[in-house]
Amino acid sequence: MISSDPKQVKAICFDRIHIPDQRRLEVAKKNGAYKFLPTVFKEFDSARIVDEVKTSGIRGRGGAGFPTGLKWSFVPRNTGKPTYLLCNADEGEPGTFKDRDIMRFDPHLLIEGMIMAGFALDVHDAYIYIRGEFLHEANVLNEAVREAYAANLLGEHILGTDFSMNLTVHRGAGAYICGEETALIESLEGKPGRPRFKPPFPAVEGFYRCPTVVNNVETLSTIPAILEYGGEWHAKIGVTNNTGMKIFSVSGHVNKPGNYEVPMGTPLKTLIEEYCGGLQHGSVPRAIIPGGSSSPWLTADQYDIPLTFDDLAKAGSMLGSGAIIIMDETADVLAVARRLAHFYAHESCGQCTPCREGTGWIEHVLSRIERGQGQPGDMDVLTDAAKHMAGRTICALADGAAGPVLSVIRLFPEVVQAGIVEKAA
Ligand code: SF4
Repeated sequence: MISSDPKQVKAICFDRIHIPDQRRLEVAKKNGAYKFLPTVFKEFDSARIVDEVKTSGIRGRGGAGFPTGLKWSFVPRNTGKPTYLLCNADEGEPGTFKDRDIMRFDPHLLIEGMIMAGFALDVHDAYIYIRGEFLHEANVLNEAVREAYAANLLGEHILGTDFSMNLTVHRGAGAYICGEETALIESLEGKPGRPRFKPPFPAVEGFYRCPTVVNNVETLSTIPAILEYGGEWHAKIGVTNNTGMKIFSVSGHVNKPGNYEVPMGTPLKTLIEEYCGGLQHGSVPRAIIPGGSSSPWLTADQYDIPLTFDDLAKAGSMLGSGAIIIMDETADVLAVARRLAHFYAHESCGQCTPCREGTGWIEHVLSRIERGQGQPGDMDVLTDAAKHMAGRTICALADGAAGPVLSVIRLFPEVVQAGIVEKAA
């Protein structure tokens, strides 16, 4: 059970995740799911909910870290158009696997959060856009949605109120770029998933050019606790400007990889040493990917960095979706960078020339360096290609693709150079 004392909170989204059969409505309700929903309908109005979410300080857990309450406040009212709520469950960033656990073990938490968000934003049609590969999770969600309709938690006049909302689970077709909110919207409209130019932002012109809020699974799953315990309660967890709990997906050379929900601001070293059992064979980190594959890498001297959006940004990286990949002394950093380059080249939607051409060239050049066939000047080619991609495209995929290659050149130039020198010799 979540503690009302912010200092005692151990988990929010994962609070009930270990309860057997928690995915079933009957079990979820016994453990508190939907308990506070009637109070929200009775005592809260839209403005109060948005205020609580603003006060909570929660920032989007999908990667960008934009304040959720502020995002909600941008939605224009009384436009004569419907407002849509889309849950971004297209979790596809290499290293990220947290939303998946919420959906498969506690789907009613997400549904409850979406009902509350929908009520706040006057939404009557909401969607969960789930990654195509998550077939099991989509089945679990669909069953949970069916149960919620049967219990009048979704559909017409929810729990006898004037509020009605439909919820549809939509499976994507396996494109990483559909995790970008405007590509997600295009895809949901039945078109190829290609990002749109912004502005206009989805809050004003999103799904079918109507006001649309796109929120991540973890973000929406935090809403029930924020409304039940209050925005101020949430704001006291974590650190200033980076409040609440955060789920980190930890993988790589650690003894206990997995998902861990900890207060924002927890030092990376604490997370790895105390929760993940330290590095395998007691070694030290050679490189750390702190926020998903698109985040610039850190090194051992940054091992103690507090896990916040702001501290990671100050260090030249980002918290992203909270996917931490630890590489120890044995890691082949060049191979990691090349594999990530392949991923981004494969997933580029091809709209922007710097991204379409640049990702392919980076993969090509890194591959020949990895084979020991790099050509003199390849380091400059890689740096030039990456720098011409970052910030010059419609969406951030190109920036993400530039991150790993620039990281390996910056942190391990001797490794890259070794693949070139051999050829030159
Ligand atoms: Fe598509 Fe890449 Fe341009 Fe994004 S940056 S819109 S993925 S081509």
